[in-house]
Amino acid sequence: MRTTVSAIKADIGGIGGHTRPSEEILHIVAEYVKSKELLIDFYVGYTGDDIHIIMTHTHGVDNEKIHKLAWDAFTGGTKLAKEQGLYGAGQDLLKDAFSGNVRGMGPGVAEIEMEERPSEVFCVIAADKTEPGAFNLPFWKIFVDARTNTGLIINEKLAEGVIMRIMDVMSGKVANLKLWEDKPELEAALMYPGRYVVHSILSSDGREQMASSSTDRLHNIAGTYVGKDDPIAIVRTQKQFPATEEVGSAFADPHYVAGDTRGSHHMPLMPAKLNSPASINYALPMVSCLVFSMHNGKLTGPHDGFGTADWDYQRMLAAERAMIMRHQGFIHPATLIPEELEYNKGYQARMSKLSEKFKDL
Ligand SMILES: [Mg+2]
Repeated sequence: MRTTVSAIKADIGGIGGHTRPSEEILHIVAEYVKSKELLIDFYVGYTGDDIHIIMTHTHGVDNEKIHKLAWDAFTGGTKLAKEQGLYGAGQDLLKDAFSGNVRGMGPGVAEIEMEERPSEVFCVIAADKTEPGAFNLPFWKIFVDARTNTGLIINEKLAEGVIMRIMDVMSGKVANLKLWEDKPELEAALMYPGRYVVHSILSSDGREQMASSSTDRLHNIAGTYVGKDDPIAIVRTQKQFPATEEVGSAFADPHYVAGDTRGSHHMPLMPAKLNSPASINYALPMVSCLVFSMHNGKLTGPHDGFGTADWDYQRMLAAERAMIMRHQGFIHPATLIPEELEYNKGYQARMSKLSEKFKDL
């Protein structure tokens, strides 16, 4: 049986700022998804101010009905968000009308169509207050770095290497990079997460998809800064794929990513429990891990991947690293490079006033 897992997410408003959606909005989104009977199963939850809808069905990837279902659910939620006066109501719904596919319209999408294994297991990784390239380092750790993942040595399928499909978010083009021969070029791309991001990962023969990740950069759609583009990814685990804990542990050493307050800083990516609000300590970037089992499209879970007690230590590490960077104030690299800030109108205004003051000596 061919089953598709679709994870679609959007920020349609937060309580008192960019914190979390209201319970009422989560309820309305879930009720809408349930009412349409298009799916085998679904789950609705949130990471910070982003609501994710995880859906299983038999309609394949990029299916218009499935994408419209998510779009309409978010549109319905936005109506209530406006009535509740939530901040940034509907902020990720960048177009007025649905046009066949939510890609390029604001919501983030990760999808995999698969032939289910007898025990199909996967993780959904959902981040907030950051950008799609935030997953570059964790994906590298899982699929390239034996120091992080011993499975690359002792699992024959992983040892064969994978094909990483990397998107240039400025041109929208995708490069298929094969391990192990294209390793240096892959690493050259992953080095700059603002420009090159992991789009998907395939087995070495290209026949099985292991991972899918959202890649939309909102400013490329809207033409101006409208918030960071918090990514969502699906990673299949166990057997010929990485172990669930090999995926989870790639997030155990919180690395610095672009994002947080005004989407203008570098801060560490903190592993968070499921359905956690964003921190109001400068909107620390955060990531949650939904661990699912699936059989005939029916979901069991999610188990909270970063919910066990040991992850409290990683949260402390992230909080500590956040304060180290915050001590640096507004000076780069605490803040992003000018090209990234230039989508922020206030910075452009400062720079145009400044440029008038520069005179020849
Ligand atoms: Mg967000």
